Amino acid sequence: MTTAAFSCQTDLGMLSRDALRARQTRLLNEHLRHCRQQSPFYRKLLAGLPNRELALEDLAQLPTTSKQDLSLHNQDFIAANGQPVADLCFTSGTTGAPCQIAYSRRDLDRLAYNDAVGFLAAGFQPGQRILLTCTLDRCFIAGLAYYRGVVAMGATAIRNGLNTIESHAQIIGALRPEGIVGVPSFLARLGASLPEQGVDASSVKKIVCIGEPIRRQNMSLTPLGQKLEALWPEAAHSTYASSEIATSFTECRERQGGHPPADLALVEILSPDGRVLPPGEIGEVTVTPLQVEATPLLRFRTGDISFLVPGPCPCGRATPRIGPILGRQAQMLKIRGTTIFPNAFFSVLETIPGVVDYYLEVTGTCLADDVTIFAALADGAPVTAKEITEKLYSRTRIHVQTNLVPPEEARQRIYGHSRKPVRFFDRRKG
Ligand SMILES: [Zn+2]
Repeated sequence: MTTAAFSCQTDLGMLSRDALRARQTRLLNEHLRHCRQQSPFYRKLLAGLPNRELALEDLAQLPTTSKQDLSLHNQDFIAANGQPVADLCFTSGTTGAPCQIAYSRRDLDRLAYNDAVGFLAAGFQPGQRILLTCTLDRCFIAGLAYYRGVVAMGATAIRNGLNTIESHAQIIGALRPEGIVGVPSFLARLGASLPEQGVDASSVKKIVCIGEPIRRQNMSLTPLGQKLEALWPEAAHSTYASSEIATSFTECRERQGGHPPADLALVEILSPDGRVLPPGEIGEVTVTPLQVEATPLLRFRTGDISFLVPGPCPCGRATPRIGPILGRQAQMLKIRGTTIFPNAFFSVLETIPGVVDYYLEVTGTCLADDVTIFAALADGAPVTAKEITEKLYSRTRIHVQTNLVPPEEARQRIYGHSRKPVRFFDRRKG
């Protein structure tokens, strides 16, 4: 592996296409050598393949890695090469046992560089104050990566973490941050509460939104994105990341899809049968993170569904852009021949006045799914179950049953079992 330090002074996305290809080709081959030499899992997986220098196009010929592989052979992925593991994080594994992702010291520097480049592209500036409203501990890596990114780009981190609305409001009033990093639904609630608390949040010019999409498939803002836009015009930028890929894709100032840092990841969109799909076509986000030491991955199928935004970005970067996450592969619904994700229903439910909460249940066999929407209404809400079904049909062209449930019952179902709200309940067989 190269030992050169990461520097966010130059954005390599701005290299010419040819220069970028040359650099990525070199990094891909270094990555493959590292996988073969240091990771028992890849040594075995790649044993039968010719050991030669590859061109970028050859990537599509290499085997993919699934969450299942990572779960079943977790320790065999670790390629520490005798180096101390600097940080361990856990993700939920497909076998039920948590999956370990190890990071070396250099991996943490790589994460810092990754987020620094992304934040600078979004418009955070050195010297600004950035409020972090996400968790920095609990064996998650994202918060730590954002923190390291803020510091690496020369800004000031305000680590208020997973704190109350009141606490964040107080910090915004007192410290006047120029930027915020957080979960968009939380930030919309925070923003809406600020006037009541007498807090002026006009210092905030940029927001990096994590964990939830703020755009639809056509790249327009979702109702949640619109709420943020009304509170902080032109501030919200989306970012996509996961602990496994150890890379984040943040929207540049154009706000039309997230760029992977040029020297940190190769991205493909794959069809269910493993074909590489062209820009614009929807499939599974598959990432080969480059320059990773401790837990290297090759063509990792994330389970997230999205697409590459067609055409070059007006910002001038030669890197691709990933669109909003439309859903999880496991949440894909097949209803009378049409493929749709729960988010398509949720973004309509968000806009119906009087609907205070909602969730979706699917039964059936995975080939013919039966979807029921459960909606909770505010007192005196001007809408019926039949009207909700009609509104959902007019936007998705799919007819689903809507049942009304008391708000308390919905809350219990959605927030009762997990730290994150759960709105999708899968009761399919097979
Ligand atoms: Zn761009």
